[in-house]
Amino acid sequence: MECRRCSNCCREPGWLIPADWEIIAKRLDITQEELLQRYLVIDYLADKTYGYRYVLAPVKVFQQKPLAKPGQRVPWNYAHLEGKCIFLKDNLCSLHPDKPVECREYQCMEHEDKQIAIAKIVDPNEYAKEVLEGSKREEIIKLWQEIGLERYVIPLREVFS
Ligand code: SF4
Repeated sequence: MECRRCSNCCREPGWLIPADWEIIAKRLDITQEELLQRYLVIDYLADKTYGYRYVLAPVKVFQQKPLAKPGQRVPWNYAHLEGKCIFLKDNLCSLHPDKPVECREYQCMEHEDKQIAIAKIVDPNEYAKEVLEGSKREEIIKLWQEIGLERYVIPLREVFS
């Protein structure tokens, strides 16, 4: 499908798998650590059964400012903040064809109504449930479990207790 540069898909940057972390760092000719500290954030799913489970994603920016601090865990309401992916340039992906797995697999316009409905959910438990049902995020989370992203996480006020 031809990209029409609407950039709708890049309002919510796709999650990386561990291999993407390496590939994108090589593409930008920086270390994986530098990539994390300059361009990525630690996103997560959290629920009462598993607690916090972490992944990496490009940081969202708004008016050229990051909406979360690169290298750190995003705040719980991050998914609801309006912004665009830091790698979006002139409404095209500057990482293409090395974009994160979720971006590569994104089906443009498909389930658009469903995505809008999910974006309006404010309860984090409900949000995680809806996202998991409509994506492969459970599989992506499993790929990150051996990487130990917890070491980068600075404790915030926990949402789940
Ligand atoms: S990595 Fe590329 S395709 Fe994915 S959200 Fe960012 S700009 Fe869009």
